[in-house]
Amino acid sequence: MSILKVARMGHPVLRNRARALDPSEVRAAVMQKFIDDMVDTMLEYEGIGLAAPQVHEGIRLFVAGIDDGNGKLRVLPFVNPVITPLSEQKAEDWEGCLSIPDIRGRVPRYAHVRIEALDRKGKPFAMELQNFQARVVQHETDHLDGVLFFDRMSKFDSLTFLEEFGRYHRAPSDESEEEA
Ligand SMILES: [Zn+2]
Repeated sequence: MSILKVARMGHPVLRNRARALDPSEVRAAVMQKFIDDMVDTMLEYEGIGLAAPQVHEGIRLFVAGIDDGNGKLRVLPFVNPVITPLSEQKAEDWEGCLSIPDIRGRVPRYAHVRIEALDRKGKPFAMELQNFQARVVQHETDHLDGVLFFDRMSKFDSLTFLEEFGRYHRAPSDESEEEA
């Protein structure tokens, strides 16, 4: 297991469009190890998602914690993800980013989406996600297009440091403490 170095805002890798992966590339041993390292890195930093450009690789791949329906989180890789909103409805909520540490801001996102991607064997799959889970995959897919959550904010008056977030803004059971 290796913990990878996380790129911080300002590093050009976070602003480039990542390239798609061929299914045969996904199955290669080097990519399987990279996926495992991304999962370990995400868990080490207590993130809820991590995209390959955040660890200096310009490829269309992210890992994210997905609720298995019984309240347990499974960390899944998504390769070449494509998101389709299932409703025009957007919700605004808090986000953080491992590449913009210790900052939180409120970001409007689609509340209900379908995501299609390849799994770690290069096989296509799809799932429907709502609310916080939908928010996480939109945040991660944005990373593959060089987009950071600041770019999605409609206004900036909610921006807050983590300490002040905890003191003034966070609800007791808030998931938004996690960075992605
Ligand atoms: Zn992020």
